[in-house]
Amino acid sequence: MATYGVKTWRKVDFYEVIKTPKDQIIGLSFPRSDLNLGLEPSILSVLPDGDNVHYDMKNRDHNDCNVQLYLCSVYISGMEEFVSWAQRHDTSKIVVGGYHPTTFPEDFERYAFKIVQGPCDDIWGTIKQPGKVVKGIVNHKRVPRRDLYDIKYNQQIIPDKKPKDVVVSINTSQGCAMKPPCDFCCTPIMCPILLSRPLEAVEKEVRSLVQYKPKFLFIRDENFTMQKDWTERLQIIHGLLPKTKIYLFASANTLKEPALQEMAKQGVYMICLGLEDITVEYTKNRTLDQVVRWMKNNGIMTYLSFIVNPHKVIGREAGKDFYDKLMSRFHELAPEMVCGNFLMPFRGTALWDQYYAFVSPEDYKFYDSKTPFLIRNPIVREKMQFFMFWYQWKYYTSDFYNNNVRKFETGDTLHLRFLELYDQFSAKYQKIWNVRP
Ligand code: SF4
Repeated sequence: MATYGVKTWRKVDFYEVIKTPKDQIIGLSFPRSDLNLGLEPSILSVLPDGDNVHYDMKNRDHNDCNVQLYLCSVYISGMEEFVSWAQRHDTSKIVVGGYHPTTFPEDFERYAFKIVQGPCDDIWGTIKQPGKVVKGIVNHKRVPRRDLYDIKYNQQIIPDKKPKDVVVSINTSQGCAMKPPCDFCCTPIMCPILLSRPLEAVEKEVRSLVQYKPKFLFIRDENFTMQKDWTERLQIIHGLLPKTKIYLFASANTLKEPALQEMAKQGVYMICLGLEDITVEYTKNRTLDQVVRWMKNNGIMTYLSFIVNPHKVIGREAGKDFYDKLMSRFHELAPEMVCGNFLMPFRGTALWDQYYAFVSPEDYKFYDSKTPFLIRNPIVREKMQFFMFWYQWKYYTSDFYNNNVRKFETGDTLHLRFLELYDQFSAKYQKIWNVRP
């Protein structure tokens, strides 16, 4: 491994240059994989077969002479890191794909020779197409290159999972055909149709997962039960991994009690439903309360993700009003897990029209769902982050949760993560609490 220094006025920064054997194909993800909270990176589905293919988790610099192709998956918040990396590499070898190149292809003109839009698992067929901006080709022939990745990095924050338990994930479909699409959601932008993988492809991939003896399996489909044959898909997974606990995303409008009975039989232990912004009525959530009751009747845990629109919680009164309503919903629905995200406006969604005049490339790094978007005042930002944490903490540590839902202090990743957050926020809390913006 060689290094070279770049002099700045105060210090010398060193970039690592990896000595790469000839004709290598390198996969990279921007932002780089989070080793503590991540899942198998989606670029593994794009990387082709061959011993010359690698996945670089650290997005290091490689010697361009020895590299045939760089295959880069770029999400909005990784744009800055990508640009800095791409400026040091040969553009004629860089292919980009993922949400950001799909929606903002013009941002990549200078940094890549091919810009892939939408899902892709056939990289050779895709880049053979004429033109710079091409549509990803999906033929479902290959399983993701998990051999290039260490599965123990998968650390999901979920009830009952202990840090050493193995969790794997699988996609049996991509996209969502919800009409009209939910106004905030970027899934229909990436893939507006429901693209189901053939059952043989699902079976082949599940067979490849058996070797890991996973305790948990996450079906990453954006809306698993939107597929007409989801039961067969579940039977394949449960048949090959009978001891594995399965969790998945679904929308309430696709669930009825017989479906939930079947899921409970087929190893589903938790379903993630989007509660979303409680001040907005979503078509998919009209039957949410009933569906959650059916889930409880069948012993399936409820995971509710919720959205906080930062512009609706500015000021003490507005914030209190919003979180009081949210806590009431938690008490009505009694979910085992809750997870807050700040609203982010994605290009192409119905919401985008209200925001595009205000979003500039400097905001891209805030597309992480944990930063109150477009809130410029740092004190207000920190307070909003604190309150989002605080109300979840209050729920998990309440008598209501511990007596009626489940015990919180179990040493699972959900409990441990919230202890970490508690420590982080306690330190910040002292600094920001008495400062009025
Ligand atoms: S939130 Fe769910 S149901 Fe709505 S468009 Fe996105 S994936 Fe589809």
